Amino acid sequence: MKPVFVPNYYESFRCIAAACKHSCCVGWEIDVDADTLAYYDTVTGEMGKRLRASIDHEADPPCFRLTPDERCPFLNESGLCDLITELGEESLCHICDDHPRFRNVLSDRVELGLGLCCEAAAELILSQTEPFSVVELPPEKAARERHAHEDSEALDDLTDALIAHRKALLPLLTDRTKPLADRIRHVFHECDIDLSENGTDTFGSFSAIAALLRDMERLDPAWDAYLDALEELTEDPPAELNGEASVAYENLICYFLYRYMTTDAEYWPNAKRTRTAFAVLCALIIHAIHRATGGKDLDSLCETARMFSCEIEYSEENLERLMEAVGDALF
Ligand code: SF4
Repeated sequence: MKPVFVPNYYESFRCIAAACKHSCCVGWEIDVDADTLAYYDTVTGEMGKRLRASIDHEADPPCFRLTPDERCPFLNESGLCDLITELGEESLCHICDDHPRFRNVLSDRVELGLGLCCEAAAELILSQTEPFSVVELPPEKAARERHAHEDSEALDDLTDALIAHRKALLPLLTDRTKPLADRIRHVFHECDIDLSENGTDTFGSFSAIAALLRDMERLDPAWDAYLDALEELTEDPPAELNGEASVAYENLICYFLYRYMTTDAEYWPNAKRTRTAFAVLCALIIHAIHRATGGKDLDSLCETARMFSCEIEYSEENLERLMEAVGDALF
C-alpha cells in the first residue's frame, strides 16, 4: 500500500454547502465514473428513475445533465445535495466525492491537497498561520484513499529529485524571520532563476500578463473585469508582500509548489527551475490582480485566488500555457 501525504491543514477542510456563493454544483460538467454509474443502475424507486433520467449516457464520459441554469440536477433549492440526503455521501460519484481535493499519484506515494477553486478551501489555505508542511496520513485514514491500495514502487530519479528539491525549498519560503521578498530572492538564487522577486520582469509588464491571460480559454465572464484592472496597473510592486498579508502569499506559493512540483514533470525541461518559478509567479500574479482590483483584505484575496484558480488551474490548456510562458521567460 502507498503512503498518503497531505498539507498540514488538509483535514480541517469542511464544505460550507448551502452557504457557498460559488458552488461546485453549478456551472461545471460533472462526469460520472464507471463504478458509480453501475451503482446508480441498481438504485430503485423514484431516486433510481430520477438518476437514470439525469445522466447523459451518450456523453463520453457519461455526465449529469445540468439544468438550463447550469445547476446539478440533484442540487436542491436549499443548496443541499439530494443524493447525499437520500442515499448518503457514499453514493457520490468520484468527482463529487473528491472535490475540491486534488491528488498526485506517484509511484511510491499519493499526495492529496485541496484546490483553491473552492471558496472554503481558499479561505482555509490562505488563512493558515502555521507554516506549510507535508504530513503523512495515518494508515486508517490513508486506507480510504482509493489509490493508496496500489502497489508502491520506487520513484523515478526525476520525481525523487523534485520532491527533495521541494522539501529543501519549504523551510526557506516559510522562514518568517526574513521579509517574503527576501525569501523569494533567496529561493530564486538557490534555483539559479534570474528573475526579480516581484515577477513583473518575467512577462514585461502587468499589461503583458493581462494580455496573456486574456488570450486564454475563459470559464467565467467575470474574469474580464479582473484582467481589465490588471491591464491598467502600472505602479511599482508590492509593499504588502512584506506586510501583514505576506503569510497569505507565502501560503499561496507553498500551495503551488506542493501541487505542481511533480505533475507531468517528465514532459517539461528544467522542471526544478520552471516549477519553482511557476509557483512564485502564480502567487505574484494573484497579488497584482488583487492590488489592481482594489482588494484590501483576506476575503478579497481569497476571492481573487479562487477566480485565478478556476480560470487557470482548472483549464488544462490555460495551465499549460502559463507554464510555457514561465519556461519561455526563464530560458
Ligand atoms: S465549492 Fe467548496 S464549499 Fe462550495 S459547495 Fe463545492 S466543495 Fe463545498
